[in-house]
Amino acid sequence: MALKNGREYQQSIADLALEAHIMGRKEAALTDHGLVRPSLAAVAVTYDGAHAEDPATRALFRVNSPLCGEEVNRFTHLHQSTDDLVKKVTMQRYCGHTTGCCFQRCVGMDAANAVYSTTFDCDADCGTDYHARFKAYWAGIQQNDLVVDGAMTDPKGDRGRRPRDQKDPDLFLRVVERKRDGVVVCGAKLHQTGMLNAHEMLVMPTMGMREGEEDWAICFAVPTNTAGIRYIYGRQASDTRKLESRSLDVGNPLYGGQEVMTVFDHVFVPRERIFLDGELPYSGRLVERFAAYHRQSYGGCKVGVGDVLIGAAALIARMNGVARASHIKDKLVEMIHLNETLFACGIACSTLGHATPAGNYEIDMLLANVCKLNVTRFPYELARLATDVAGGLLGTMPSAHDLEDPVAGPYIKKYLASAEGTDPVDRIKVLRLIENLVAGAGAVAYLIESMHGAGPPMAQRIMIGRQGGLEEKIRRVKAMLNIP
Ligand SMILES: Cc1cc2nc3c(=O)[nH]c(=O)nc-3n(C[C@H](O)[C@H](O)[C@H](O)COP(=O)(O)OP(=O)(O)OC[C@H]3O[C@@H](n4cnc5c(N)ncnc54)[C@H](O)[C@@H]3O)c2cc1C
Ligand code: SF4
Repeated sequence: MALKNGREYQQSIADLALEAHIMGRKEAALTDHGLVRPSLAAVAVTYDGAHAEDPATRALFRVNSPLCGEEVNRFTHLHQSTDDLVKKVTMQRYCGHTTGCCFQRCVGMDAANAVYSTTFDCDADCGTDYHARFKAYWAGIQQNDLVVDGAMTDPKGDRGRRPRDQKDPDLFLRVVERKRDGVVVCGAKLHQTGMLNAHEMLVMPTMGMREGEEDWAICFAVPTNTAGIRYIYGRQASDTRKLESRSLDVGNPLYGGQEVMTVFDHVFVPRERIFLDGELPYSGRLVERFAAYHRQSYGGCKVGVGDVLIGAAALIARMNGVARASHIKDKLVEMIHLNETLFACGIACSTLGHATPAGNYEIDMLLANVCKLNVTRFPYELARLATDVAGGLLGTMPSAHDLEDPVAGPYIKKYLASAEGTDPVDRIKVLRLIENLVAGAGAVAYLIESMHGAGPPMAQRIMIGRQGGLEEKIRRVKAMLNIP
């Protein structure tokens, strides 16, 4: 099947006729909803990339898949080499600096690569047949060029208790009934990126499960319009600006992100869509692998958004007449240095990747975790520097509505004048874009997600501690000093 373009993708989502609770109302026609539309447009960029005029860009998005024997969009690809891993990160950077936000399609790609190798291992050790099922399922995703939401994070209730010890066992998604031809699940997945812009969801356990927690060790896929699933839209800072008649105050006029609380109220999952069911050791392995792929992803997408923030900071410095000041130049250099360090981590963990026994390629786990741990810090520093360069107007500007007021408007234009040749309205546009990323709707993905997405900093520290090779380093020092 031909690769979809952005318009065809948007129509395919409209055809699903999904419904969601948004701001106290049950809403249908979501693809026309002012809060949803920018996020749909951001995902559409991942489709349009495959049809870009520039052949180099097209080549980033198009790849031949040995799984289905066709050319597919890289967002559905199972990586076959370290070159594929590098191209993945490069493509994500492209999408990040094109949209200036989260374009939502990576979670499913990362989940698929983790499920592919984990089902292979599970089958080899346990004699199950999950891998063949998953291959058949994913070949269909590739051929139909679909978006798959990667659903891992459970509500988790009391973080000090195991799933089976929670007052409400649904706080971790679980199997509540077993039928001859499948299972029934209850629970929820929080923070689901782009769920309402997805055709399918791939649900995974939230952590490694232990003995007695077999019902929570479940991995499966269902279409997003499956009966029993309810969606409750997440709020972002300043989100209702998207509903206002003037787009200037939104900051990012075309694109935005989306996170959705997703509730499973007795949802039936047919057997052929189950990829793990009670095989405990593979739940933890799946979580680690998914997390590592997504930690690599941030070395692309957050860098792309960082490009936008750096460009906006440099532009506002020019507009404010401070571009030649040495400390401003130095701050911009620092921003570039931090951003490229993140990219270097994304590229490094890709270049040092390796083939899994299943045949797809996995990143270097240690470096992917180093990448994400840096992501929990550097975008905050970039935001701090951009705030410094932009000036206090970032937090105090009058609204776009006042700009059009016959009395207030001329005052705003008069007193927001800056360096010669700068239109005050253009200056407002740039300031609103920076505001979007450091304190508005865009900060959800650029800052809060940089901290918590793919796991909070402690999760990366644990992995770095495990994989940092401390014993080997001690052994080397002992050998060097002739200590027995
Ligand atoms: C914008 C955004 C988008 C996201 N998109 C997705 C998505 O598409 N799919 C998906 O599955 N998930 C998604 N996530 C979820 C993300 O993976 C989680 O937010 C992350 O794993 C942290 O979990 P939490 O939010 O429950 O925080 P918590 O787990 O409550 O963490 C809060 C703090 O408590 C600490 N903590 C937690 N448990 C313990 C413990 N047992 N002992 C000691 N300390 C503990 C943590 O280290 C952290 O410092 C997204 C998150 C965000 C913010
Ligand atoms: S946060 Fe980044 S990696 Fe994750 S879905 Fe959004 S754009 Fe992709």
